[in-house]
Order: sequence, then structure tokens, then C-alpha cells
Amino acid sequence: DLSGQVAVISGSTSGIGLALARAVAARGGDVVLNGLGDPAEIERTRAELEASCGVKVRYHAANMLRGEEVADMVAYGKHELGRVDILVNNAGIQHVESVEKFPADQWEKIIAINLSSTFYATRAAIPIMKAQGRGRIVNIASAHGLVASPFKSAYVAAKHGVIGFTKTVALELAQDNITCNAICPGFVETPLVQAQIADQARLNGVSKEVALKDIILEAQPTKRFVTVDELTGIFLYLVSDLGASATGASFSIDGGWTAR
Ligand code: NAD
Repeated sequence: DLSGQVAVISGSTSGIGLALARAVAARGGDVVLNGLGDPAEIERTRAELEASCGVKVRYHAANMLRGEEVADMVAYGKHELGRVDILVNNAGIQHVESVEKFPADQWEKIIAINLSSTFYATRAAIPIMKAQGRGRIVNIASAHGLVASPFKSAYVAAKHGVIGFTKTVALELAQDNITCNAICPGFVETPLVQAQIADQARLNGVSKEVALKDIILEAQPTKRFVTVDELTGIFLYLVSDLGASATGASFSIDGGWTAR
């Protein structure tokens, strides 16, 4: 039961972030949504979530490329909904290209959105959580926070960075009843991955079907996508009171990927 709690979730207009927002709202928690997309569609999602769950759902349009806007999103949670109990740093993008051809602007964007926004949001949330005497920070890293794949240098560097940042924050807040953990999903079928099927097919000169089975799911021993419900399970544990001693850790939900 998350009633009375407020979750701020970056990148929650789609995919994993939206699934986690639904999980919080379904358990009675209020939510600040964030992310890119068509304003009318975002407003439909917001209103539907609010009505179906009977909770307050707000939207903040912060662009994760800009630190001040990220901090503003967290402050908005406090001003608008009264508290910030749960922060989920989830927004992320991918670009698939060899290092030698990797565009500098894509490198800078991936580091800013996937790594630096986590710093800006966390820094803004800590004083609020300290004043409340409790907090839960969940960073959506990746199996690529623990191991690498070719053609994903910026993403792999950013996600390894997220795991290092997660450990540091956990140590700093260990006596403040604020935990900070990373979830490391394997491949989950979301718009982010759909785009990669085409990229991998192009880079490897194979069909999309072959790219999916032999390249994308090659590393995932279960040979199927992780589902968003499977991620929701570990997330709900981490934000619960039972998760109080789980901090500074990375939780692999990756179909066995990093066991190899
Ligand atoms: P997605 O593309 O469905 O969602 C990404 C979200 O981030 C969207 O809401 C998008 O609007 C938002 N976003 C992107 N750029 C933004 C910006 N500049 N400012 C604000 N919001 C922005 O992708 P997803 O698969 O749900 O990914 C969510 C997280 O999970 C990412 O950090 C991703 O790296 C991670 N992840 C995904 C997978 C997977 O297989 N799908 C695996 C491991 C980790």
C-alpha cells in the first residue's frame, strides 16, 4: 500500500517508467509523470491514471538534458503533492554506433539524460527525504550497467556510471533511512528496444527477425523479453519497508544475461 506517498518518476510517459507509475497509482500513491511526447496524449494518460486509481497524478515537462529543469521536477512534486517519498530515475535514450563513428552530440545527450539527470534529481530529492525521515531512490540502470555490448559505448558508460553513483548515494544516506538502489533489466519490449531492432539489422546487414533473435536476445538466456510486470515486482519490494536494508545494490532482472 503506497497511499499517502508521492513518487516522482522521470521518463514515465512510455515504457518502464509508465508501468512503474501505474504500479504506484494502483497502490494508492500520488505520482508526478515526466517525459516527452504529444501533449494531448500525455494529458489523456495522466487523466486516465488519476481517474482509474483515484489518486493525484501530475505532469512535469522537465527535459532531462537540463539540470535546472530536473531539479524543478522534484521541487514540483513537493510543492504540488506535498512530499517526495519515491524518486525513480528512469528516463533514458540509446544510440547504436561504433565508437569511431559515434556522433559527439549523441554521446553528450546520452550522458546527460541517462547519467547526469540522475545526479540532479537525486540532489534535489535528498533534503526533502531527509526532512521526511524516509526516502526511496530507485535508478533504472541496465544489464549494460554491469557488462558491455559493442556499438553502445555511451549507453554502457552512462549505465556503469549510474551504478557507481547509486553506491555512493547509498553510503552517504545509509543512516538517514533513505535507500538508493539500481535495477538492471535485460531486454524489455518497449519503444526504446523497438528502435534498436532496426539499428542492429542495419549495422549487421541482417533482417529485423534475425536481429531480434540472434543479436538482441542473443545475450538473454531465457530467449524472451523481460516483462514490465517482472520489473514492477522488484521495484515494489525496494520501496517497501521490507526493503530498508537493501541499499547501494544492483538488482539484475535480466533473464540470466549477466550470469554468463
Ligand atoms: P522508452 O523509450 O519507452 O521510455 C523512455 C522515457 O524517457 C520516455 O518517457 C521518454 O519520453 C523519456 N525521455 C527521453 N528523453 C527524455 C528527455 N530528454 N527528457 C525527459 N524525458 C525523456 O524506454 P524504456 O525502455 O522504457 O526505458 C526506460 C529506462 O529503462 C531507460 O533508462 C533505459 O535505458 C532503461 N532500460 C531499458 C531496457 C529495455 O530493454 N527496454 C533495458 C534496460 C534498461
